[in-house]
Amino acid sequence: MPSPFVPPSAKKVLGTCQACFRRFAIRPTRRWPSGVEVATHGFRRSGDLEGCPGAGQPPYEISVELTKLSRSHLAHVELVGLEARKRELETADEIDLVVAAIARPAPEGRRAVVFRRGRTVDDPDAARFARTFEEAQRNLVASVAFEIRELKQLIADLDDRIARWRPAPEKLGLAP
Ligand SMILES: [Zn+2]
Repeated sequence: MPSPFVPPSAKKVLGTCQACFRRFAIRPTRRWPSGVEVATHGFRRSGDLEGCPGAGQPPYEISVELTKLSRSHLAHVELVGLEARKRELETADEIDLVVAAIARPAPEGRRAVVFRRGRTVDDPDAARFARTFEEAQRNLVASVAFEIRELKQLIADLDDRIARWRPAPEKLGLAP
């Protein structure tokens, strides 16, 4: 007869987050059949705390479903979006750029600058990024291309994690 699940509250057991792959305390829950979820955690992005999608989900030792969902979203939504953005920039005749208004005060400190093919932009805020349409286009295409490379690497890492996944509840002190 299988032994009943005893919540690992007596000692702190760490499980791996399915989204960020850092390790956090796991806690008992009724939400998942395994009876455990990864504790609340997140990222600090420009000063704000943003919840990690892996918080409140079963740890990677138990499930790989959230990793598969993230992988699918990154490949079919994020990557497709970035590739479309790159094509758009490569064929554009006009580029809107939001720049920090340092040289001139503006509401919220940011404003849009429009670059048009064949025209030089005489704008001190934009000048730190680009002076011509071609330069703005080159810089933006390069930065999107960099994001695409990073994202492809991340997707490859997730593919690897998904391929290597085996249930390992014993690592959390749970019955297999
Ligand atoms: Zn996480």
